Amino acid sequence: MKKREYADCYFCGGQVQEKQVDVIRHWNGRVIMIEDVPAGVCNQCGERYYWGDVAEEMDRIMHVAEKELQVKRELRVPVVTLAAT
Ligand SMILES: [Zn+2]
Repeated sequence: MKKREYADCYFCGGQVQEKQVDVIRHWNGRVIMIEDVPAGVCNQCGERYYWGDVAEEMDRIMHVAEKELQVKRELRVPVVTLAAT
C-alpha cells in the first residue's frame, strides 16, 4: 500500500501518522465495521483523517447491497441508552 502524507492536526497541531484503523459506520439503519482502513491519526488528540479515495470507498461499501457484501465475520453489538427512564 502506498504511503500517504498528512498535514499536522487541524485541531491541536499534533503530528499525524498513518495507521490501519477500524471504522464503524452507520447509515440508514445499517451498521458496518470496516477493518484495516488507512487513516492519518493525530498522535496527540487521536483525530482521524481520511484521504478522499479512502472515504469514497467507505461510502461505496455502505451502499453495497447486504447480500453482495463480502462479510468477513459478524459482531453482536449491545445497545444502551442514556435517556431518562
Ligand atoms: Zn490532534
